[in-house]
Amino acid sequence: MARYTGPVCRLCRRERMKLYLKGPKCDSPRCPMESRPYPPGDHGRDRTRQGSEYLGQLREKQKARRIYGVLEKQFVITYEEASRQSGITGENLLRLLELRLDNVTFRAGWAASRSQARQFVRHGHIRVNGKRVDIPSYRVKKGDVISLIERAQDHIVVRHNRDTFVRPLPGWLEADPTGFHVTVLNPPMREQIDAPVREQLIVELYSK
Ligand code: SF4
Repeated sequence: MARYTGPVCRLCRRERMKLYLKGPKCDSPRCPMESRPYPPGDHGRDRTRQGSEYLGQLREKQKARRIYGVLEKQFVITYEEASRQSGITGENLLRLLELRLDNVTFRAGWAASRSQARQFVRHGHIRVNGKRVDIPSYRVKKGDVISLIERAQDHIVVRHNRDTFVRPLPGWLEADPTGFHVTVLNPPMREQIDAPVREQLIVELYSK
């Protein structure tokens, strides 16, 4: 499955905001956004914040793609599906992105970042209703129980992540007492999605 393999901190700098793509480094002084909070490249410092309407829409779309680790083609497919659903297209889009299995694995607190969560899924560490699912884009639905396999529960990386990151479980998920089984109570509402994205701008971009 295709994914972005370039330097991820450049993506944050390009968007001029922390996208929290690297786990522990993001909250440390080693985060490049602390020392170089301007776009990469020779003229990064010179770029002004003002841009065209189109540029603003484009940046918002890129930001959403980068936060969820989705490539352009898959993002467009997701957008088209969101636009076919009833309701507000932008909110539908974010909801569909949130329901990805790699995102739920991240939200459950087992992984430090969505890219690490994707790796857990690809390596077969995740079960959905007791069945192995190794497709990061797999969409969970209401009532699904997502679990981390027993072998991975004691893994030092998982233990470290659970001890280190204080990341409250969103209200649309419910964990059992062990924390290794998470149930989808409902698809998330917009106010339950903390992604710093102005989704209306993405809709405007694709509506042109
Ligand atoms: Fe972004 Fe994290 Fe890299 Fe900082 S350390 S630039 S927040 S990915």
